[in-house]
Amino acid sequence: MTARRVRVGVLGFFHESNTFAPGAIRLEDVEPRTLSGERILDEHADADTAVSGLLAGAARHGWETVPLTYIEFVPSAPLDAGATAEVIARLRRAVTEHGPFDALLVALHGAAVSLAEPDLDGAVLDALREAAGADTLIAGVLDLHANVSPRMAAAADVLVGYRTNPHVDAKDRGQEAADIVARALTEGIRPRCELVMVPAVMGILAQATAAEPWAGFARAADDTRQFPGVLSVSLFQGFPWADVPEMGMSVLVVAPIGDHSARGSAERLADVMWAGRNGFRSDPAAPAAALADAPAGTTTLLLDVGDNIGAGGTGASTHVLGHAIAAGRRSVVGIVCDRDAAALVHEVGVGAAIELAVGEPALTVRGTVTAVSDGHYEDPGPTHVGHRYFDAGPSAALTLEGGQTLVLCSRAILPSSAQQLLSLGVDPRAHEIVIAKGVHSPVAGYRPYVDRIDYADTPGATANDFSALDYRRRRRPLFPLETEHDRAGSPRPATDNERSLRP
Ligand SMILES: [Zn+2]
Repeated sequence: MTARRVRVGVLGFFHESNTFAPGAIRLEDVEPRTLSGERILDEHADADTAVSGLLAGAARHGWETVPLTYIEFVPSAPLDAGATAEVIARLRRAVTEHGPFDALLVALHGAAVSLAEPDLDGAVLDALREAAGADTLIAGVLDLHANVSPRMAAAADVLVGYRTNPHVDAKDRGQEAADIVARALTEGIRPRCELVMVPAVMGILAQATAAEPWAGFARAADDTRQFPGVLSVSLFQGFPWADVPEMGMSVLVVAPIGDHSARGSAERLADVMWAGRNGFRSDPAAPAAALADAPAGTTTLLLDVGDNIGAGGTGASTHVLGHAIAAGRRSVVGIVCDRDAAALVHEVGVGAAIELAVGEPALTVRGTVTAVSDGHYEDPGPTHVGHRYFDAGPSAALTLEGGQTLVLCSRAILPSSAQQLLSLGVDPRAHEIVIAKGVHSPVAGYRPYVDRIDYADTPGATANDFSALDYRRRRRPLFPLETEHDRAGSPRPATDNERSLRP
């Protein structure tokens, strides 16, 4: 008698929801962002995403793998009730129609919010649990910016978070999640998630994982991974632009049910993160100062903190480009997402001179069209989150009368690949300043093309100073928005240094 082959379903739902961004994802937005069956393989099999890691892990273990349904949105406003019901119904249906499964391998973000269901990742995992049944293992991969809730930790058997920012290990984490499932199946153990929430949230410029304080947290997590019984350790930075009770930092340790040391391990890592809180400061320069600091003769990647597409910005802001033009900087590339402007440029075509208003606030520019494209480009990586295939919609490049280069696209997509420019004949290395709408997401893809990286403190849906946001539902206290508490959240006088960190 031969052993029955393990059967797994691969599926996911990926959205980072900025509850301060305008609008909502609606029912009609779901279908165009849904991949089913073989189309998941087309998009992910040769990429470096979490989905590609789950697929690769399943293949390595020789499992029968069924690609089910994967729905991914660009970071933006939350889902409305109709979109929420549709997403959950599609995922649930995929499991019930194609099951039963020994395991579900799930790619999630972990900071998805619905207007109807604030903890949307928790709702998705509950729906998958209900559809798959109690015996099916559910192993999920989360973004480093997940706002992990107790509901999520209870519904999944395994949750594994990215360790890097920019996120260049999504595929590795997918493989890790599959490996834990393999161990559970062969050793007959049932894993569980031990979650400890840390009453703090990090400023965005403090989040680079290769730098302190995070590098120190990562070393502590590495040590914990060596402890007997520990199956996985993840540290989460949280996503501050989501006004939900689970917003903030956390630690999640996966260990077999019955292992009593996991809680203590997670608590100790929470202590390490709490002890590093004085390093959570984030102080980008004013745009004019950042532009003035960019030296001639080299290339500066200037990151637009307030219009960070990777956190829910629209990519339409002209704030930094307007400053650059006003300052007379000529050797500048600015990318602006503006569907109408891109359409207008496509109408007049390459070689035409045109005057048009672009972006938000509307900036009137005159220039000559140098290239148009359908906005498709490919980058074998490394890119943030591991995407390989990109679709920015109808795109164009113009040389403005002041000498600057304007790149227009029709769709806000992560600015994680320099191919967005190169595919339009724009070489970042030939310019002194490249303005990108992100903070960490452009860094991995652009690093080979730039000499230095700087940040501009701009207004917008992802503005650096989140103390100015009108939070109604987040948990309190959260350092540094509040400072008079200890790691358990109990009242305690702040030190002078802590008070100085309060935004
Ligand atoms: Zn992230």
